[in-house]
Amino acid sequence: EYRHIKIPTTGEKITIQNGKVVVPDQPIVGYVEGDGIGPDITKACLRIWDAAVAKAYGGKRKIHWCETYLGEKAAGLYDGNYCPDETLKVLQDLVVSIKGPLTTPVGGGFRSLNVALRQDLDLYACVRPVRHYAGVPSPLKTPGKVDVVIFRENTEDVYAGIEYKSGTPENEKVAKFLKEEMKAKFFEGAGIGIKPISSFGSKRLVRKAIQYAIDNGRESVTLVHKGNIMKFTEGAFRNWGYEVAREEFGNVTITEEQLYGEYKGKQPEGKIVIKDRIADIMFQMMLLRPDEFDVLATPNLNGDYLSDAIAAEVGGMGIAPGANIADHVAVFEATHGTAPKYANLNKVNPGSLLFSGVMMLEYMGWQEAADLITLVYPEVIGDGIVTYDFARQIEGATEVGTSQFADALIERI
Ligand code: NAD
Repeated sequence: EYRHIKIPTTGEKITIQNGKVVVPDQPIVGYVEGDGIGPDITKACLRIWDAAVAKAYGGKRKIHWCETYLGEKAAGLYDGNYCPDETLKVLQDLVVSIKGPLTTPVGGGFRSLNVALRQDLDLYACVRPVRHYAGVPSPLKTPGKVDVVIFRENTEDVYAGIEYKSGTPENEKVAKFLKEEMKAKFFEGAGIGIKPISSFGSKRLVRKAIQYAIDNGRESVTLVHKGNIMKFTEGAFRNWGYEVAREEFGNVTITEEQLYGEYKGKQPEGKIVIKDRIADIMFQMMLLRPDEFDVLATPNLNGDYLSDAIAAEVGGMGIAPGANIADHVAVFEATHGTAPKYANLNKVNPGSLLFSGVMMLEYMGWQEAADLITLVYPEVIGDGIVTYDFARQIEGATEVGTSQFADALIERI
């Protein structure tokens, strides 16, 4: 039924049953190699993930990989089409997949591939876990205190892209309406952007964050917003967040007020604290008292800034993993770009894709395989075996290529 995609006949598809992702022992998982450094890191990571799964389950479980195509490799196969419909279809059908970085060709009329994926598969939650791995260079004194998972809303807020360019008839029409009918005041010829944040969009994001906290034994969910200034968008996000906690998770959540009132500051067993913080304060808190935070839920723009800032705290910009997740369908991805100058040099750090794969194994419920990778990774770094980017920050380190770094991990798995 597909033109270039071959579904492995040896495995079984992951399915959704009664609202849950059901993973067979021999699942078919989709992957996109990606452009630039994508092939180098993907080849290395496939070997590491397979080794971890083989070791953890002694052959009982195995991933049957299905290659799918986006970006330049797709363009080569599908007559210049960077984003073939059949790829979007198969990623939906396979439920779980992982992708390398993709080139976004610069120029008009071309939707970014990542935006196309997000919109077509309705991947509304951008999930970024950020923690420190021993030995990874960090600018903080105690980076080990950072261990958060950020759930960033992925479809609304400034990402909705509702903007009107200064000097255009559309802009003038909107400006006229705002000034004359809504009595808004702003300078002549201002560019105008609209920031929609809905109850539906906010609640499904916060719901996912709370469910994650429950499933993973986390202690708190913090709603990060700028509601003191943007009351009816960011402030509403906060209110809808508390509402979903109260109405749908009332038996397992308490507010900070309850924690310090009713419970005298002692968190009861099995209850998750729902709290909120103003976005700017949050940047300070994540530097000064990072151990007070656990799961964070944010509207789009705050989450964008915050994810990169927190990743940098643990030296992790190059190794930070991520995923874009719909209700069930999940696409895990390297968070860096294609670094074209290092393409095919067997040089770069596979960490971001590697840990996105760890997230993926956790999502599949294959925690033992995920744990093997998180366990051996600091051992390899501790032995000073690192790629060029870490080598220049760690004194006495041995610089190795991408595939040799993978070998060193696999040897210890
Ligand atoms: P980039 O992340 O590709 O590279 C910036 C620099 O970061 C590189 O020069 C390199 O020094 C370093 N770097 C990145 N990944 C690394 C790794 N794995 N190991 C070691 N060092 C690494 O960002 P860019 O140069 O701004 O973008 C290049 C292309 O990537 C553009 O076409 C852009 O659109 C695309 N991009 C794609 C994604 C994605 O697919 N998710 C994300 C960002 C950028």
